Amino acid sequence: MARLRTINFLQKLILSLILISDCPVWNYDGSSTYQAEGSNSDMYLHPVAIYRDPFRRGKNKLVLCEVYKYNKTPAETNKRQSCKKAMDKARDVHPWFGIEQEYTLLDSTKYPFGWPKNGFPGPQGPYYCGVGATKVFGRDVVEAHYRACLYAGIKIAGCNAEVMPAQWEFQVGPCEGIDMGDQLWIARYILDRVAEDFGVVVTYDPKPMTGDWNGAGAHTNYSTKEMREPGGIKAIEEAIKKLGKQHARHIKAYDPKGGEDNKRRLTGHHETSSIEDFSAGVANRGASIRIPRQVAEDGMGYLEDRRPASNCDPYSVTEVIIVTTVLEE
Ligand code: ADP
Ligand code: MN
Ligand code: MN
Ligand code: MN
Repeated sequence: MARLRTINFLQKLILSLILISDCPVWNYDGSSTYQAEGSNSDMYLHPVAIYRDPFRRGKNKLVLCEVYKYNKTPAETNKRQSCKKAMDKARDVHPWFGIEQEYTLLDSTKYPFGWPKNGFPGPQGPYYCGVGATKVFGRDVVEAHYRACLYAGIKIAGCNAEVMPAQWEFQVGPCEGIDMGDQLWIARYILDRVAEDFGVVVTYDPKPMTGDWNGAGAHTNYSTKEMREPGGIKAIEEAIKKLGKQHARHIKAYDPKGGEDNKRRLTGHHETSSIEDFSAGVANRGASIRIPRQVAEDGMGYLEDRRPASNCDPYSVTEVIIVTTVLEE
């Protein structure tokens, strides 16, 4: 009996040890996704990362793929390939990222989940990190997502209710190099799937409600090995100086519309900086770059880029940060 159980266990273990290199290149119909014409529609899927499937569980896997066109060049939406190249070049500095993904839950009418029909909840103030049925909406979705991410092997490190009711955040990281983009995309996918089960919808729009309501960002925390070691604050300040010279380039990379989406969010109000200006400061939530107070005290650690929009592509964001601060002199 014990032997049978051992064999059973070993079998399961072996089945769970499927590697990304075991997954074949596959393809799909790009004409159904507005990526190709019907007459030349095959798009290639190149497996790049593998996770445990929290929905089917057991030996099932989620496989993240890069998309290539018929001519073997990356699809327009494939921002991973160039990011990977940059990360490979910067390998020696051991870049770490942690992204705070903010998002908003909507009901089936696409109105914020839990808001009064045809009306608004009371003004912002009591909702951030709130508790209780009049303060937060959708915690069961958030909890289910958290557990599903842990099961999948995502480095999810926290979550909180946000300033606008029905708005939430989860944090993934620290992740090194290309892993940041990979893990965040899978975490987003898992969130969409979990929300589906609850009959709600996730929007990553950086300003889902106009007026006196906070927008949604994807604060990107970043460090190199040098920044994490004693005296690293000097390297952090040097990186900030470089970032300041490339503000426009970064804004272009921080949402899918080259800054158009983020313009609605980065107003200089609601804990944001203006999209026009670059600024940095210790513990300053109205700056482009914030140095957390603890980092200033320790003289080492990381910086927080508060500019990326919630709907950013994390590959584009982490790539441009590496290009500006490490790869260009
Ligand atoms: P905030 O105070 O801005 O709300 P959070 O606690 O939500 O901060 O998120 C902090 C993020 O910083 C997490 O994603 C975490 O992984 C990341 N982080 C912590 N240390 C480092 C580091 N040394 N380098 C890069 N990212 C880091
Ligand atoms: Mn946060
Ligand atoms: Mn937040
Ligand atoms: Mn933050």
